[in-house]
Amino acid sequence: MVLAMMRFTLPRDIYYGRGALEHLKELKGKKAILVLGGGSMKRFGFVDKVLAYLKEAGIETQLFENVEPDPSVETVMKGAEAMRAFEPDWIIAMGGGSPIDAAKAMWVFYEYPETSFEAIIQPFSFPTLRTKAKFLAIPSTSGTATEVTAFSVITDYAKGIKYPLADFNITPDVAIVDPELAETMPAKLTAHTGMDALTHAIEAYVSTLNSPFTDPLALKAIHMVFDYLPASFGGDMAAREQMHYAQCLAGMAFSNALLGIVHSMAHKTGAAFSTGHIPHGCANAIYLPYVIKYNAKCAEARYADIARSIGIEGTDAECVKALCDKIDEYNVKLNIPKTLKEFGIVEEEFKEKVAKIAELAVGDACTGSNPRPITPAEMEKLLTCCYYGTEVDF
Ligand code: FE
Repeated sequence: MVLAMMRFTLPRDIYYGRGALEHLKELKGKKAILVLGGGSMKRFGFVDKVLAYLKEAGIETQLFENVEPDPSVETVMKGAEAMRAFEPDWIIAMGGGSPIDAAKAMWVFYEYPETSFEAIIQPFSFPTLRTKAKFLAIPSTSGTATEVTAFSVITDYAKGIKYPLADFNITPDVAIVDPELAETMPAKLTAHTGMDALTHAIEAYVSTLNSPFTDPLALKAIHMVFDYLPASFGGDMAAREQMHYAQCLAGMAFSNALLGIVHSMAHKTGAAFSTGHIPHGCANAIYLPYVIKYNAKCAEARYADIARSIGIEGTDAECVKALCDKIDEYNVKLNIPKTLKEFGIVEEEFKEKVAKIAELAVGDACTGSNPRPITPAEMEKLLTCCYYGTEVDF
């Protein structure tokens, strides 16, 4: 496991810039399957563009449409079946995180039909891919960075469990990071995905698996999010473009350094309450300052590095405090609540469920690389601080 992590893997090529989608004209291959989500890419005309470019490249293309948000094991198996029937040498996934995540998992079952979903749940245990197809990802949102990561989240609805699949085999071969696609994001999604990207970069920087390879990517991403997210949220498309690149840099960092307990908490609270789903990036944004205060006992100097890289001055402790204040200030600008209570989670339900959620969060795949260990009892206290907005002083 440790040896497997001492590896730095990225896509072979990242094409970026307005109109980068045109790279598809030069793609070499025979057949491509284009995996899509609910239809926004079609409505905005990007599917027609992709089809025209691939035609110009002499590539025969088949569509696999309607991958749902939080894609299911069933959708993955259906997609793999479609791939086995069509036999593409390129898998092209375009859209938000969901179609790209789903296509990554389809890829495994396309190449290894006899494999079971259970067999690939164990992180970094995938069979060797690229025996039948290569993978190209085109993101339309600026947050998950799944176009450059070794991760895919698939939901088993029968069991009610979200499985984070992880293996460098599913790091795409090519990413096309074209900001024109991200221009279609509504403001709220821009805020949430932007804070998700900030969380990726900060958690990667303080992760126990941080490295000289991931640090510069994380710091640059953090700098860019602070510079561009408010304007991008406000509809400034030049800032939106920079955010599209910043989230990609953050993805390159966390794909190799992994994450921490902000993500553990977001994963396990996202669908836990009857009052409705807490969007992933929104949950991260709420938890991030509380977690920094908790982790600072073990990672103060690393957080101070982050603060100094964005121009904050002072002792390590002053820097950490100012960094948290700055995140609070951005959350206010982005209309993100400061507490779970303010988000609308009912107090009685929170109290009833917090112990179980704390236990699940400690067991999340992201907890292992958090800089400070945490027990279920401490996690319960931390979540309680996030509910009421009380000071983290343990
Ligand atoms: Fe995330």
